[in-house]
Amino acid sequence: MFNKVLIANRGEIALRIVRACRELGVASVAVYSDADASAPHAREADEAVNIGPAPSRESYLRADKLIEAAKRTGAQAIHPGYGFLSEREHFARAVVEAGLVFIGPPASAIAAVGSKTAARALAATANVPVVPGTTEPLRDASEAESVAKSLGYPVLLKASAGGGGKGMRIVHSAAELASALASAKREAMTSFGDDAVYVEKYIAGPRHVEIQVLGDMHGTMHSLGERECSIQRRHQKMIEEAPSVAVTPELRKKMGDTAVRMAKAAGYVNAGTCEFLLAADGNFYFLEMNTRLQVEHPVTELVSGLDLVQWQLRIAAGERLPTAPMMTEPRGWAIECRITSEDAGNDFLPSTGTISFLRVPGGPGVRWDGGVGAGSEIGLHYDPLLGKLIVWAGTRDEAIARMRRALLELTIVGVETSRDFHLRVMDDVEFQRGAIDIQWLERRLPSLTAGGSTPDGEIAVAIAAALLAESERAGRLAASNGAGGTANGASSHDAWRDAGIRDGLRRR
Ligand code: ADP
Repeated sequence: MFNKVLIANRGEIALRIVRACRELGVASVAVYSDADASAPHAREADEAVNIGPAPSRESYLRADKLIEAAKRTGAQAIHPGYGFLSEREHFARAVVEAGLVFIGPPASAIAAVGSKTAARALAATANVPVVPGTTEPLRDASEAESVAKSLGYPVLLKASAGGGGKGMRIVHSAAELASALASAKREAMTSFGDDAVYVEKYIAGPRHVEIQVLGDMHGTMHSLGERECSIQRRHQKMIEEAPSVAVTPELRKKMGDTAVRMAKAAGYVNAGTCEFLLAADGNFYFLEMNTRLQVEHPVTELVSGLDLVQWQLRIAAGERLPTAPMMTEPRGWAIECRITSEDAGNDFLPSTGTISFLRVPGGPGVRWDGGVGAGSEIGLHYDPLLGKLIVWAGTRDEAIARMRRALLELTIVGVETSRDFHLRVMDDVEFQRGAIDIQWLERRLPSLTAGGSTPDGEIAVAIAAALLAESERAGRLAASNGAGGTANGASSHDAWRDAGIRDGLRRR
């Protein structure tokens, strides 16, 4: 195993990797931009290195600075997390050329599936079903028109280099095609520096179901079951669960074998994910392969009992995976809610400010993978993900009830968050029945976001205000006593009662 690993990322995922390192007895080196000097990930790691100004392209996207920091601190390996440079072939290559280990797949595997068109072409050779469409970028609008006509509308234009739903356009008729193609190309160029766009059939009402794979350097590759990621807004995941209500043991095996076949065709090593669309008729189609740890990896960890980040380190250090299946059937049910600094009641407008108060949920079956603390400044430089709330329970119904309870305990003051939105999803009868597909959330949004924050949200703010007032009172008391005393139990009790909220909480 490595002695020291540098983590080329920030926020919750950097902290997640620090924790895995610590449990393995590996020292961790965090990197931070000027905006993150006092961020939890930088504080929690064993060492921390400043890599430049707040904009990512001057810090977290600077391969040269990251590699230099690793060498200077004596780290032997670099974990890229997700986002930033995690799926850049050139970074994986540069790390290895610098004599360090890249904790992820070889650069050649990233190249093999890095573009969606290359991945589709490879899938075809590996007998992996893909959504009908092209495997080459479109030359021009007239080619797009003839392909779209043969596929039948609606079709989906997609950026070959795509990610995060960027450069994607649904086209319902030939009349819309040329302008949609031009705008998809423009967006692809701005987002990825590559305007290649291809076309595929737009599948109505499928689920997004993805398979986690884990492969070692010695030829062993396992599938670790599925994640249901259909709760999406603008093609971005918001809630994930494992397993999926739509996946039977037979389908799990079939999708798992397909994912392993795809990963092997790419020469894949380490943790990766094959994304599929699962149609209502049970057919599934390969979408893309993500060559990194996924945001939603914890739901797989909770139903498999495996620590994926620890396995990433162990695989990168050359360890062998067991040859017997690492996971047969999922145990229980796990759900993850992405808690972002966005105002769901206001079209998910990013919210900025300082977190003045943070209460993290606890109790049975609750996990909080967070990247912020009280005092954290939430700006616009980075992704709005504040943390992930993940729960585990024996059944899906119990997991939903547990998530609801945990969301009620989660209190974040200082920025708007998506917490109340998640509560409403948990309370939705269709969600509770598992009757979801990738368009479900967009259809349901008007009713899920109507009427501003929920009473629960108001209660949370009242609790926070009461606790803040209480700590200020305690501070004043301590100052007047000339001692560093803290609040006693009785006055804390008063603060809650003063806010008139205890009954409100109990009733719900
Ligand atoms: P990105 O890499 O930009 O996230 P993906 O190919 O992973 O793009 O697709 C993102 C989401 O868009 C999917 O999870 C799914 O909800 C939707 N989507 C993608 N392809 C199709 C398709 N052919 N038909 C219908 N929906 C699709």
